[in-house]
Amino acid sequence: MRKTLSKFLTVFILFSLTLGGSLSSVSAESTSSLPVSKVDVGKEGMVATAEPYATRVGQEVLEKGGTAVDAAVAVQLALNVTEPMMSGIGGGGFMMVYDGKTKQVSIMNSREKAPSDVTSDLFLDENGKSIPFKERHTSGKAVGVPGTLLGLQEAHEKWGKLKWKALVKPAENLAKDGFNVSATLSGSIEDSKDKLSEEAKSVYAPNGQVLKEGALLKQEDLAKTLQLIGKEGSQALYDGELGKAIVKTVKDHGGSMTEEDLENYTVKEQTPIKGKYHGYDIISMPPPSSGGLTVLQILKMLEPYDISQYGARSPEKYNLVAEAMHLAFADRNKYIGDTDFVDVPISGMLNGNYLAKRSKEIELLKANKDVKAGDPWSYQGGKPETEYVPKKDDKEIGQTTHFTIADKWGNLVSYTTTIEQVFGTGIMVPGYGVMLNNEMTDFDAYPGGPNEVQPNKRPMSSMSPTIVLKDHKPVMTVGSPGGPTIIASVAQTLINKIDYGMSAEAAIEEPRIYTPTYPNIRYEKGIPSETIKELEKLGYKFDDEPEEIGNVQTIDIYDSFYLGAADSSRVGSAAGVDTVKGK
Ligand code: GLU
Repeated sequence: MRKTLSKFLTVFILFSLTLGGSLSSVSAESTSSLPVSKVDVGKEGMVATAEPYATRVGQEVLEKGGTAVDAAVAVQLALNVTEPMMSGIGGGGFMMVYDGKTKQVSIMNSREKAPSDVTSDLFLDENGKSIPFKERHTSGKAVGVPGTLLGLQEAHEKWGKLKWKALVKPAENLAKDGFNVSATLSGSIEDSKDKLSEEAKSVYAPNGQVLKEGALLKQEDLAKTLQLIGKEGSQALYDGELGKAIVKTVKDHGGSMTEEDLENYTVKEQTPIKGKYHGYDIISMPPPSSGGLTVLQILKMLEPYDISQYGARSPEKYNLVAEAMHLAFADRNKYIGDTDFVDVPISGMLNGNYLAKRSKEIELLKANKDVKAGDPWSYQGGKPETEYVPKKDDKEIGQTTHFTIADKWGNLVSYTTTIEQVFGTGIMVPGYGVMLNNEMTDFDAYPGGPNEVQPNKRPMSSMSPTIVLKDHKPVMTVGSPGGPTIIASVAQTLINKIDYGMSAEAAIEEPRIYTPTYPNIRYEKGIPSETIKELEKLGYKFDDEPEEIGNVQTIDIYDSFYLGAADSSRVGSAAGVDTVKGK
């Protein structure tokens, strides 16, 4: 009898371990043990995220023998709880995976899609003017069909080792037991409180009081949702009660998403785009993101200038970066859209002769006041019938999240994931605790261009998860949130590493600029005032005050260890893993 009991207990313990008992320890009580270091090393793994609870969850998964993709699943779901304003299952994203075995890089594109019945004038008023951004991004019409949960599940099926339920459990526990609100979350609630739906307010600003840093936040509805997801997987959303609730909520807020839209949603596995910069292979995100193409164009146009001959904070360096950015953004705004719907001149845009010609338009210590898009089509033998001239609207810059993970088998994940604006639409699904994205406003408000609204299309993104190889071996991952500023953050981090030889931390912290068009320049603290004065003499206009740009997380890959770094613009952290259970 005793033997049977002990056998039963062993089976029970093993069973609960597989079901997540072993990964369930992260909760408010363990705050003191949270990894808060901005830089760390690890022999057998690394996790760098914008939020320490999520970093801890990822670290635990790796320690238990999970793959980088297992850890990515658990981290994304944990972020849905602890950084709920930035990403989650109500949104979409691009997970780039380097497979340590096949040495191939692929992308799980779980970008939101437009509902099937939308028209290109979705965001125009009756006079043909774009509906103000403040209004259009908080409406049910702004909600794209979410992809994150299916993306996680498909990535897990392909590269995961641990049980799905075990990977959902840490997030469920964080939602149920609560966690201590970070300064970043508290600040985001304060900034967005006016747009939050009643349901969202009751969670993040109960009784009208914004949760302060350190407050214990329990999210019971979200915990139940996560429990359901642990049990049913993505079906709960794409063909189940969560999906029904999402559709009802979207419709209640004036949108048109249907249950069929959810059922028909598909994740797209994509091959990345590649380019060489000073001997490094830069592997990045193709359309529907503009990220990879624009980053690569910036780098290739800068290559002939050998930028490191100028100081990292010199007027020459920032002038070159600004001019390359203006040229690349002009192409971006004219040519890029979802390639499932429109032709994008990808090979022309990356053609060496084309970029060499564009690069010659840059003149040192001069500001080109009239930058125009080039003609990449003529470098790939086809021309669109109509010329599109991009129209400006009042779109605001989004802020979401980027994290990166490495495991002991050499698998790497570089994953930018979003609900678009901070707190997305501000709409929470009643009873389920899930925030809904406003990704539809990443489409142009005005029809006519490659990024106009079309049924089932994915809006153009700027997300640029990137992996860098040298001599066929991965050496670095990089990525950032920040809407179009992502492109500036990723390109400048790469320049800081490759051209200036900076450490990961220094490369992230080096002050960045963002300037899609002449003359305005958004800039970070730390650029010398003499540099700014010199640049203003050229005609550029610096913003009145410096402002943070992006939030870069990165991993350096060495032969015997990983080095991770997290950006100081949020509370994020990097945590290494030295010992992994099992093989
Ligand atoms: N919606 C933005 C994009 O796809 C992402 C926002 C962000 O990451 O900050 O480009």
